[in-house]
Amino acid sequence: MKRIPLIAGILGRRTAWLRPLTGAAEELACADPLRLLQDCLEDGGPGSVQPNEAPLLPLADRDLLLAEIQRDAFGDRCEADAACIACGQPYTMAFSLGAMMASQRDPEDSLVEGPDPESRFRLGDVRFRLPSSRDLADAAAAEDPASAVLTACILSGDPAGRETDIEAAMAAAGPVLDLDLDAVCPNCGTSQSPRFRISDFLRQCFVQERRLRQREIHCIATAYGWSYDSIMRLSRADRQDFVGLICERPGRATPLDAFGGRARATG
Ligand SMILES: [Zn+2]
Repeated sequence: MKRIPLIAGILGRRTAWLRPLTGAAEELACADPLRLLQDCLEDGGPGSVQPNEAPLLPLADRDLLLAEIQRDAFGDRCEADAACIACGQPYTMAFSLGAMMASQRDPEDSLVEGPDPESRFRLGDVRFRLPSSRDLADAAAAEDPASAVLTACILSGDPAGRETDIEAAMAAAGPVLDLDLDAVCPNCGTSQSPRFRISDFLRQCFVQERRLRQREIHCIATAYGWSYDSIMRLSRADRQDFVGLICERPGRATPLDAFGGRARATG
């Protein structure tokens, strides 16, 4: 298990424990990265968030954990394909996820206090918590979802007329990996700002890797006669190690031979 200190956590529980990825979890990620997170969270005892609490995690902590999973599975370097908004030509952006996360932190913002022992923050006389996936889902049907999320997260104090400041304070206290990137088309030189969301990026990486995953499963099943379900319960590292051992046998082709390379996302 891997221990991850959280930014705010849930009601003062500011540690998450992640168990190793399995093939089953990777398939969940192809549908919904939050389900992957739900599958990977382990009960680490007092002070840790619980396996069924992924929807209650602040978005900042959700993205922090998804980024950890991304880096463990695919490495820190991200490559994303985009199409130019001017000439339509495809191009590739490459960046470091760790550097992006570091740039999102704003230690200079001293106006926001917290988190306190209950994972809450304060801006002047307004106390608030950070929004979660559950808050977004609950507010989705509201006439003004952003306002509904803000209302749900303010715990005390009068926010009237200060909504923009409070939203900025929330963003500073709990930065999410959902941002515009700076890019320049190498073909025509047009500057543009493609959107990056860690949840979308991670999902796309696992979707693109699916063919390789199937080949690995086929390779192990053929060599050892294990069932599909038992292979899907192997950790990602064990699955890849077994494939490596099998491929050391003379005359065996590796599943990697038929795969185009490192997983990357298309946006
Ligand atoms: Zn262009």
